[in-house]
Amino acid sequence: MIKRFNFEIKKNTIGLILFFTVLSIQSQEIDILIKNGHVFDARNTIDAIMDVSITDGKIIQVAPSISEEHAKQVIDASGLYVVPGLIDPHTHVFVGSRSNKFADGNNSLSPDDFSFKAGVTTVVDAGTSGWRNFQLFKTQVIDESKTRILVFLNIAANGMSGDKLQQDLNEMNIAKTSEMVLKYPETIVGVKIGHFKGSDWEPFDRALEVCRRTERPLFVECHLPEYSLKEQLNKMRPGDIITHSFENISERMPVVDKEGKVLPYVLEAKEKGILFDVGHGGAGFWFNQAIPALEQDLWPNSFGTDLHRFSMNAGMKDMLNVMSKYLNMGMPLKEVFLRGSYYPAKAIKRDDLGNLGPGNIADIAILSLRKGAFGFIDARNNSIRGDKKLEAELTIKGGKVVWDLNGLAAKPFENN
Ligand SMILES: [Zn+2]
Repeated sequence: MIKRFNFEIKKNTIGLILFFTVLSIQSQEIDILIKNGHVFDARNTIDAIMDVSITDGKIIQVAPSISEEHAKQVIDASGLYVVPGLIDPHTHVFVGSRSNKFADGNNSLSPDDFSFKAGVTTVVDAGTSGWRNFQLFKTQVIDESKTRILVFLNIAANGMSGDKLQQDLNEMNIAKTSEMVLKYPETIVGVKIGHFKGSDWEPFDRALEVCRRTERPLFVECHLPEYSLKEQLNKMRPGDIITHSFENISERMPVVDKEGKVLPYVLEAKEKGILFDVGHGGAGFWFNQAIPALEQDLWPNSFGTDLHRFSMNAGMKDMLNVMSKYLNMGMPLKEVFLRGSYYPAKAIKRDDLGNLGPGNIADIAILSLRKGAFGFIDARNNSIRGDKKLEAELTIKGGKVVWDLNGLAAKPFENN
């Protein structure tokens, strides 16, 4: 009897809490209310016309109809897609590092100049810094940018500061790299191995050891003849990420053979849980690899752009262009959205990103799907035609409008 009585009290208490929670949500001031958009949020299984309310930089509610009564600003997203802010897991944004005394080899861009206009709210810098110059990167760029910048820390102490330093084993210190990762656990989401030209697996193994110690994924960008793709994939663990997945310069790293069949060890790696990132860049995306791979279910897990000084003016352009490429190659729109934010957030173990769960950071991309005649170029200057293109109408980062293509959030002009 006593037990039952307690249960009743508990049930009533929960009921009351729920009642007051709903009441408080309804009467709460809303900073931004996005109305009538098609919300796609895989984590919370939402794929419908919904409203989204934002207050103090956080998502408050996603529901079929939220009253405008307490909203300071209303954005009508009719006919548009509302998705979690896009995440680009392969960029180079250590601007200014060219002028530091170690640097001569990186082509970084300022992230805010390129991110928001493509719906991107989070970028991961892929190894432009290592443990020795990460602090400089942080104070010079990460802390000064509006874009959320996360980092795959290079196993090479100075990151991509010239070829010579990236070949030096003395620069690859497990203890120092691990220490820096654990000092900034919120920002450093993994470790990068890349650009090593020797045949020694020591750099790869050291990077992997840092990942083991710090429980983070390895980000692999090795495209050198001495490191065969098969061996790389063998060494990688489930959750580790390989980039430039659809590149085949000088037949270095094909995922499909000459007959266009996906290689068996690549499929095995995918089954094992290795994540394939596009890593488009200036050279890392070939239609003759990507199209047969897509047809044979080797789909990328994320659309890393490898944003740098040259890729943005070539076939890559921006992340929405890469996503549009896949859309026109035959990937369904929802699968494209999944790989634009939810999957990369999971890959870097950031549950607070890539979804629109209440209480989470309000990073949102409002996208239009344009119909027309478009062309898309790969890294070999081959083109395909297409009839669909995603465009960023409006981007919200931490509850603030940071990009507004057609003035959806602006006041109508009155001549007074
Ligand atoms: Zn890169």
